[in-house]
Amino acid sequence: MELKASHFSDFLKPAQVVYNLKSKDKIQAIEELLDVLIKQKLIKNKKPILTRIIDRERLESTAIGHGVALPHARVDTGQDIAVVVGKSAKGIDFDSIDKKNVHIIILIVWNPSIPGLFNHLFAGLAQFLRNSGFRKRLFEAKNKTELFNVISEIRLSLPVQDDKIISRASLLWKLQEIEIQKRKAPKVKQKELQKKADLIRQELDVALLDRFDRLMERYGFAVAEVDDGACLGCFINVATGMGSAIEGSNDIYVCENCGKFLISKKKAHN
Ligand SMILES: [Zn+2]
Repeated sequence: MELKASHFSDFLKPAQVVYNLKSKDKIQAIEELLDVLIKQKLIKNKKPILTRIIDRERLESTAIGHGVALPHARVDTGQDIAVVVGKSAKGIDFDSIDKKNVHIIILIVWNPSIPGLFNHLFAGLAQFLRNSGFRKRLFEAKNKTELFNVISEIRLSLPVQDDKIISRASLLWKLQEIEIQKRKAPKVKQKELQKKADLIRQELDVALLDRFDRLMERYGFAVAEVDDGACLGCFINVATGMGSAIEGSNDIYVCENCGKFLISKKKAHN
């Protein structure tokens, strides 16, 4: 299937916007939003999708800062994509890295048959959220129609360097933890760990995973922490300025000496 849509509004109708979420916690809010998708006949079975989304949240919160969270799941729903947006005036604790409550939740369920959709959508969102004017209008929308209109302006776009709003280094780090656990886990635990690993693998591109798997096979680990400017994979200092770049961005960095993926110590132990 080819990606033809170019705007968020191609997937969004006013009925998929909840101006005033009733829920007070994260799981309730996700359920409330999924109920909207059921009502709109965009998804059929709530339970398995809810489980997938919560499993994904447990791996790493999808709160991306600025008071916005993007819970998501890749599920074969028959539809290309199902989007629902909810606003909470009071805010919801989403285990966000910045500890701030989330006021806008954009929940996305998409079909695995459309390659690239996830990245296009998220890149568009990232560009949109970077603009403080848009953010202001998003949070200050006075009613459902206004909120719908602002969100409809989001365009899908090709990801560029700064658009990685989901930290892929953290995902790789989590994947590594799971793969290491898998090595010594009893048989009964294997299936559960594999499920977690697959959840992460779905969000990373093939080239990255290929490199990850090769490093894991060769060294037993693929992602190394950077502490005090040194790669803990080889204990050689990383290039000047790289340490702070790793700290401050969601992009993927590789140690120029040992070739391992790098993650800041802070992000690794978040
Ligand atoms: Zn290294």
